[in-house]
Amino acid sequence: MSKGKIVVISGASGVGKGTVLGLMMKKRPDLAFSVSATTRPPRPNEVDGVHYYFITKERFEEMIAKGDFLEYDAHAKHYYGTPRAQAEEKMERGHVLLDIEPKGAKQVKDAVPDATLVFIMPPSMEELERRLRSRGDTPEDQIRIRMERAVWEMEQRGWYDHVVVNDDAERCADEILNIIADLA
Ligand code: 5GP
Repeated sequence: MSKGKIVVISGASGVGKGTVLGLMMKKRPDLAFSVSATTRPPRPNEVDGVHYYFITKERFEEMIAKGDFLEYDAHAKHYYGTPRAQAEEKMERGHVLLDIEPKGAKQVKDAVPDATLVFIMPPSMEELERRLRSRGDTPEDQIRIRMERAVWEMEQRGWYDHVVVNDDAERCADEILNIIADLA
C-alpha cells in the first residue's frame, strides 16, 4: 500500500511549470518529482537524472516493449515517458509530482484512478508566447509548433480535476499546495 498519491501537473510549454514545481517542492520537501525519460537532447542547464533521464530512441523503445512506462507519448519529435518503477518507489514515501502533457495525463488517470490532475493556464496567449521566447532555449520553428500545441493542450483542461492560472508563480504554487493538502 503506497503512502502517497500521484499528482499530475500539465500546462503548455512556457507556462512556468518548472518554476511552480520548484517553489512547491521548496515549501514541501516531502513531495517527490518523477523524473521522466526522454529522447530529446538536453538543454544547456539540464542535468541527466535530475530534469530528465536522457536516453536513446532505441533504449526508449526497448522500455516501451518491456512495459516499463506508467505512461508515455511522442510529441515535438521526441518520446517522453514516466518510468513506472521509479514512480511506484517514490509513492511509497509520499506524493509524487508528474510534469506531463495531456495524452500522458489521460493514461495515468486510466491506470491510476485516484491520481489528481492539475492543469496550469497562462494569464493569456500573448504572455505564453512572450515567456516561451524569453527563455531563449527554444528555436524559432519550435516556438510556432509549441504555440499550436498549446492551443490543443489548453482545450484538454476540461477533464482535469483542477485548473489554475499562473499569473504569479508563488500564488499558483500555493494554490496547488492547497489542493494537495486536501488529499487523503
Ligand atoms: P520539454 O521538452 O519542454 O521539457 O517538455 C515538453 C512537454 O513534455 C511538456 O509539456 C512536459 O510536460 C511533457 N513531458 C515531460 N515529461 C513527460 C512524460 O514523462 N510523459 C509525457 N506524456 N509528457 C511529458
